[in-house]
Amino acid sequence: MNAPDETGTALTAVRGDITEQQVDAIVNAANSSLLGGGGVDGAIHRKGGPEILAACRRLRAGHYGRGLPPGRAVVTTAGRLPARCVVHTVGPVWTPGRAEEAAEVLASCHTQALRAAAELGARTVAFPAISTGIFGYPVDAAAPVAVAAVRAAVHEAAGRGHVFEEVRFVLFSEESYDIYAAEVAR
Ligand code: ADP
Repeated sequence: MNAPDETGTALTAVRGDITEQQVDAIVNAANSSLLGGGGVDGAIHRKGGPEILAACRRLRAGHYGRGLPPGRAVVTTAGRLPARCVVHTVGPVWTPGRAEEAAEVLASCHTQALRAAAELGARTVAFPAISTGIFGYPVDAAAPVAVAAVRAAVHEAAGRGHVFEEVRFVLFSEESYDIYAAEVAR
């Protein structure tokens, strides 16, 4: 647990399961289809129940007919999860030689997810290590991008009068936890 920064927001890293977090909003590392997948996405749909998938299908039937583009974020119910809502975002697929492009998209995921959360009035938000699983982004490259983007978005929100109480990174593995925790502590 880190002390709140000058905006009053605590940036934290914990080891755990994102589906169990008692926060206003959890972020899903979704894929563009919004219709479920493996990893975090699979766990959220499995534990959250069919309401989340039904909401995603409505998004696909409406504004997101072609799916959610990487770097963007949309909100649905959290179904049976303890969180109030799920912010779905699509991370970049890691492609060797295209690190800069991937970093821009990964940063955008965090920025857009926090903008969506702020619009809903969420004060506590939990992120997984977006893109570092099936999408192959190296954890030590992803962590600084994710944390810097969150810091900037927290400042941006504070400038508009929305103060997040806590933004929490929830890491499944010890290795990811160590890397994100070090970045958060910096
Ligand atoms: P992506 O497709 O964006 O890479 P993944 O879901 O495959 O997303 O993985 C992102 C990260 O989330 C990985 O580090 C993975 O170990 C981790 N992860 C998987 N399940 C959970 C969970 N239930 N809670 C938190 N993190 C998880």
